[in-house]
Amino acid sequence: MARIIFLLLLTLFFHEMAFSKTCYVPTGLDKDATGDNKYSKLFGCDKYYISKYWDDFNMLKWNWNDGFGFHDVCNNDLPLGRMMNTIHALNITKNIKYKKSILNWAYDYAEGDIITLSMACGDGSLNARNTLSKVTFFMSGIYGEKSVIRRAGILLHEARHTRRIHNGWGNCPSGASCDSSWGYGGANQYHVLWLWWFGRHSKYTSEALKNDALRDARWRHDNRFNINPGKNI
Ligand SMILES: [Zn+2]
Repeated sequence: MARIIFLLLLTLFFHEMAFSKTCYVPTGLDKDATGDNKYSKLFGCDKYYISKYWDDFNMLKWNWNDGFGFHDVCNNDLPLGRMMNTIHALNITKNIKYKKSILNWAYDYAEGDIITLSMACGDGSLNARNTLSKVTFFMSGIYGEKSVIRRAGILLHEARHTRRIHNGWGNCPSGASCDSSWGYGGANQYHVLWLWWFGRHSKYTSEALKNDALRDARWRHDNRFNINPGKNI
């Protein structure tokens, strides 16, 4: 019996391994539109930031190699480079004029509530997932024409899931990932807040990315709450 279980585990293990190699980097990426070119320039492939982000989010080599970019950290085509841009956007988007704004604490919050940040192929149905505070991004979350800013919002959203799950039972317009209300303070509230502040008060970015943030904020505001929060976004 033990032998059968062992073989079963082994099969599952190899199934996972095979799975992680069956996804491919999409072609024709528009890295100007997604802000990857802009944020990787700001990031400057800086060794200080690379090791800071790697350590802050407890990333592990075996989650980010095999084509995900471990040996090519600053390559904007690969998941790890795109994740570095994402984390950098969350980190540098601060505005001291608004001391209590989520822009100023989102990075520390995400870093503190994510035990490890990892990457997997996924099946296209989810952008990312939080399992016992391990956050995994899937290909549709790191690509899927999502801008650096949208990805930063997803990262914060997933971090919030460590303390709050979705409690809306699919009763919001999007039919999934619903929160009961704004006051619940769930992943959607954090997500919309950060995007809104980014769209209104971020610096060193482009108007196009600010507008992209506001579009995403509006969509989530209108579709991810059982009771429409009625904010003016
Ligand atoms: Zn969620």
